Amino acid sequence: MALRAVAEVKSELQSRGVRLSFGSRDLEAPCGRKGGAGPAEGLTLLLEESPASVPVAASYVAESPYELRPEESGIGYGLYRQGERVRVSASIVPEPQFYRGETASGIPYRKIALLHGTDCLASTVLQSCMFWATPSACRFCGIGLSLVDGRTVLAKKPADLAEVARAAAREGVRHVTLTAGTTRDRLEEWRLFLESARAVRRDAGLPVHVQIMPPIGRRMLEALREAGVSTIGIHVESFDPAVLRAVSPCKAALPLSVFRRAWADAVDVFGPNQVTTFVLLGLGEDAAKTLEGCKRLTEMGVYPFLVPLRPIPGTALAKRNPPAVSFVRDLYEEVAGLLRTAGMSWRKVRAGCARCRGCSALADYEETLASDGGEKVRGSALTCEVVRSGPLVDSCLAVRHEVFVREQKIFRESDGDSLDGVSLHLALRRGREVVGTVRITPLEDGTWLGSRLAVLPAWRGALGSLLVRRAVEEVERRGGRRFLAYIQLSRVRFFQRLGWRCVEAVPEYCGMPHMLMEGPLGLDRSGRRVDSVPRDSSFFRPRAEAGTGSSL
Ligand code: SF4
Repeated sequence: MALRAVAEVKSELQSRGVRLSFGSRDLEAPCGRKGGAGPAEGLTLLLEESPASVPVAASYVAESPYELRPEESGIGYGLYRQGERVRVSASIVPEPQFYRGETASGIPYRKIALLHGTDCLASTVLQSCMFWATPSACRFCGIGLSLVDGRTVLAKKPADLAEVARAAAREGVRHVTLTAGTTRDRLEEWRLFLESARAVRRDAGLPVHVQIMPPIGRRMLEALREAGVSTIGIHVESFDPAVLRAVSPCKAALPLSVFRRAWADAVDVFGPNQVTTFVLLGLGEDAAKTLEGCKRLTEMGVYPFLVPLRPIPGTALAKRNPPAVSFVRDLYEEVAGLLRTAGMSWRKVRAGCARCRGCSALADYEETLASDGGEKVRGSALTCEVVRSGPLVDSCLAVRHEVFVREQKIFRESDGDSLDGVSLHLALRRGREVVGTVRITPLEDGTWLGSRLAVLPAWRGALGSLLVRRAVEEVERRGGRRFLAYIQLSRVRFFQRLGWRCVEAVPEYCGMPHMLMEGPLGLDRSGRRVDSVPRDSSFFRPRAEAGTGSSL
């Protein structure tokens, strides 16, 4: 039910916006984006675990039933609809620390790239377009606006982008989206993407998503992949020809066959589920044509990223309203079903907007469908079992091997250690498959240690937080008085959002700096003060504990 509530609240918020009882004056990017090449003008909220870019300043927001109010405690916010508290938690995604940095040549990092959603770094590598201010320009695009008021620089140097990406990765950014205006010499745009992706991949190790205008040849796509691009966006914008002619004449001038060719080549090169296209909603398009277009996309392995129109102040569509929420929801439901039939999911997209999901509730409708619809029929809803030994532990170890040895390369051959035999392992299963795990180990005096949190890449999103919450519950249920974990620095913000607090920085743990953090057990919430942690070896000596099984 919570997943459906998130999907419904998010889709309505994106069509109606949210009023801020405290005003928007102090909100800066990523909270206060005002322009850019993609959907803009908004505040990034976290609805439970789902990021949502929500309008706050457009004129229609004054009529929104939603209001965000500071909590009476002074900590956090509450979301209200027509004066009633909404039962979906809402928080404002905080401004990242890396915004304070600047390059050696003195360019502020925030002029090079911005945090989008909660874990995506986005940059317009070339903030100009050959169509800008011409009759062929996309009416919804604001690519030239940010440049005029000095919020960005015209061309981002690959080395600068890589530097920002490195800093962002240290704060938990997981993927990078690169976009650009269209250049007269198409090779220029392609080379920019090549060099930028290569630098980001080499220096920050993050998967990169590139958004490029067709036509684009197969060899160019292969070169992008070799440079480190993981996913590609080739945006059709609308499947309704009349709408496309009215709002995006430059794209309407390209026959649909040009897009189809580019999508087919891109799926061959990057794989199914790694090619995406924006499908804008609310431009007056025909729902049946839109749905038919999306169906053909999913049949060829292309992910249709449905995005409700976000009119950007200063653009030709500034006075338009976003689409009616019922129209958007119907399409979300239908397209989520198409994706499911095709075996596709936002979770399988390695990078980019579909992975970020800040501007669309499609992923939330996918989740809703999977949890309270078809998955139950097939008997594969999420379950979490707590075990000490047996085949399920082997499956947990296999997930850890995939994440810590193969993906993160923290361990060379195995991440197994002496704690495995005396720990409880939480096995998160989807159907029969174990997709995530975390280990909890009893120490002394009611203290437990959490470790080895791992979720398979295709299932990242909400499952990590589910596992952490489930681990906290399990420790609490077993009478634990204190729950500690060494957290990689890039994951500290994630744990803070789940109520964990920093205890002390640990310069080296498993060969890298970590933060010792404490989980929100009941005893802590009642105000017990936690001092520094004893570091003698006996404190960390585990004792044996019996396991059990339970449902999530
Ligand atoms: S969905 Fe794309 S445009 Fe929207 S916030 Fe995320 S990365 Fe940015």
